[in-house]
Amino acid sequence: MTLSISRMDLDGNCSPIALVTKILKLEPNLKIPIPIEELAYKLDINSIQELTTAGYEGGLVTDEARSSGDILIKKGMYHQRRRFTIGHELAHFLISYHKPSAPNGFLCDKTAMNNWDLKEQIKARKMEAQANQFASLILIPPPQLRKILNRDRFTYLDRMFEIHEFFDVSKEAAARSFVEYNPECVSILICKDGKLLRKYSKRDFPWIKLNKGQAIPDISALYTHPVTTDKTSSLQETMAKEWIDVKFGSRTPKMYEQVVHQNYGYSMIMLKTIAFADMDYDPEENLTSKQRLAKRAQNR
Ligand SMILES: [Zn+2]
Repeated sequence: MTLSISRMDLDGNCSPIALVTKILKLEPNLKIPIPIEELAYKLDINSIQELTTAGYEGGLVTDEARSSGDILIKKGMYHQRRRFTIGHELAHFLISYHKPSAPNGFLCDKTAMNNWDLKEQIKARKMEAQANQFASLILIPPPQLRKILNRDRFTYLDRMFEIHEFFDVSKEAAARSFVEYNPECVSILICKDGKLLRKYSKRDFPWIKLNKGQAIPDISALYTHPVTTDKTSSLQETMAKEWIDVKFGSRTPKMYEQVVHQNYGYSMIMLKTIAFADMDYDPEENLTSKQRLAKRAQNR
């Protein structure tokens, strides 16, 4: 596929959202997974090379005027992480008000690559959050993402894996977009050996009271779903008060849980809450018991 886009076409588009919108408009036939390297070269990146500076994930050799750009990626980085890091460095190259953080351009460490707070007051950190937002949006374009998330009436964790494979992004990147663009109120918890590592919640999801390193509540399907399978569990109702604080006297929201085990003791939990207006919500309400079983088998 030959791209016709040029960096000049993007002039005046500064925010990550504006840039991605413009790129998708100029290249409406961009195939999925997005050919991020080809796109970077088309937008004046000279080369993508190995980064030799220890302690950093990626870098961009450039000057303040962005007369040229060379992307550097940590040696041995796995394919999907590499794609994301190229997107991140490309953002530093395209967003003209990003000020180089090193004498010859930008150097981005793990902390930078994990900064998602766009409300960040410190400019250097906000820059990193914007670069991450750009990488996420360009690799998982919202129009195609919505097609996956809006396909079913109810959300299942299986769609997160579909995003991971379809867009060729890491499971973490897929989980973040799955949560952010989900039509339902969901949260994803990443766990290792039964303890919480990270959580991604949709803005309106109630605050999960578990902190990093804390054990997952023992009522979780994490402990009953067989570790020998890499299939997702069925979507089951769980006790909301085990996960979130419910004020005395207030109604407890209905909550559902679905889990999946991964390699090396990792697992993922999807939680979703149902608004009080939909309290009679039942994802399998119209199904006969035979259909329910078939649906559960299909979700596995
Ligand atoms: Zn960066």
